Amino acid sequence: MFIRENTKAVKVGNVQIGGQNKVVIQSMTNTFTYDVAKTINQIKDLQKAGAEIVRIAVPDKRSLDCVSDIVKASPVPLVADIHFDYKLAIGAIESGIAKIRINPGNMGGEDKLTEIITKAKEYSVPIRIGVNHGSIGKSDDKVSLSLKVLEEYISFFESRDFQELVISLKSSDIISTVKMNRLFAKKYNYSLHIGITESGFGEAGLIKSSAGIGALLVDGLGDTVRMSLTGEPVKEIKPVKVLLRSLGLLKEGVEIISCPTCGRTEIDLEKLVTEVDKRVKDVKRHLKVAVMGCIVNGPGEAEDADYGICGTKEAGMIFERGNKIKTVPFDSLVDELMKLIKSDKL
Ligand code: SF4
Repeated sequence: MFIRENTKAVKVGNVQIGGQNKVVIQSMTNTFTYDVAKTINQIKDLQKAGAEIVRIAVPDKRSLDCVSDIVKASPVPLVADIHFDYKLAIGAIESGIAKIRINPGNMGGEDKLTEIITKAKEYSVPIRIGVNHGSIGKSDDKVSLSLKVLEEYISFFESRDFQELVISLKSSDIISTVKMNRLFAKKYNYSLHIGITESGFGEAGLIKSSAGIGALLVDGLGDTVRMSLTGEPVKEIKPVKVLLRSLGLLKEGVEIISCPTCGRTEIDLEKLVTEVDKRVKDVKRHLKVAVMGCIVNGPGEAEDADYGICGTKEAGMIFERGNKIKTVPFDSLVDELMKLIKSDKL
């Protein structure tokens, strides 16, 4: 297991980001924030899927006027995403938001930024500041420029005695993102919000995001994660959970391992693993379950799994840490596995 950086923790409502706290999963709504009912429904869906913090965009006064109602109905702490208008940041803080995310470069100057900081101190609200390659202008060395810009921002906040910061350094390029975060962590211990920005959609976006986020997590970097994918935000959550669980950073839920199948496979393994995945969705216990394609190598190849199943055309086998414990008719294999998973003996 790798060692996680011991960053400075900040409190976002009742959730702690940083320090040795678990990596916090977050996402962002894509509803119009002024559509209060839709926004609250989406926040609830995200929470049910596993989001621990949700960000909402507050682009105008109409949205700001709804923040207080949304905060009251939200099951998780909310972050307000603000650009260009410092009054929106101040208003969001006064409306009970748990954290704000701003780009210090577009808040209208030092005086306005100072007013935001003063309000954030008064309400004990942390601030995420960050640099995104897309917004720093042209340069042959965007990594260095991003770090330089960020250092200036941080100095400004520190000069106003404000350290309740979460930092993000993002790019749509994986290598640049990883480099920036590594260099930053050598110098500072502020907690990091990680992700690959505009990573795309579908499988390609997922793979790109996972490669970048995974590389940083293995380095011990990243206190909160958002996987930005085009589409329904709720779909961002499961991949993050799977990624965190596979790195040992999420100690709940079932991690499924399954083989690629080969010429020995007599069963429809894809169908079987899909069914298992569906049935274990709500299991909170942290378990590794193997779904393997044959009885010859299946149990051995999955010996580090807590439980496993495999089978032939005729019968299914259940094993525990590589040892066979039961043979059952193939059709009842998943039911029998679920009985074991739900039993107290685990
Ligand atoms: S577990 Fe069996 S079916 Fe699956 S890849 Fe290995 S040998 Fe093939």
